[in-house]
Amino acid sequence: MKNTAIENFFEHSALHKEARAWVKRGACVDVPTKMFYPQRGAAATELIEAAKTVCSVCEVRRECLTLAMKTGEQHGVWGGLDPDQRAKLTRLPV
Ligand code: SF4
Repeated sequence: MKNTAIENFFEHSALHKEARAWVKRGACVDVPTKMFYPQRGAAATELIEAAKTVCSVCEVRRECLTLAMKTGEQHGVWGGLDPDQRAKLTRLPV
């Protein structure tokens, strides 16, 4: 795994092609990846909440969340939502 969340975007599966147009404008550009993909443990909740705070001021939050939902991303914080929150969104009636 790369050091920053933004580097991880580019490393992560096939997502990098679609994200290339906007990902470098992400507020997480210089933030360590471990904040967005914390290991299970006592600090995980705090790291996830810190990641969501970064996302809350991100200008590409909509693009980020849309991509995660479209691709069924099951790990990490994307667009300000953790995997459980994204899973709930997929279960909402349309
Ligand atoms: S919404 Fe969050 S994870 Fe997505 S690019 Fe912005 S800061 Fe990074």
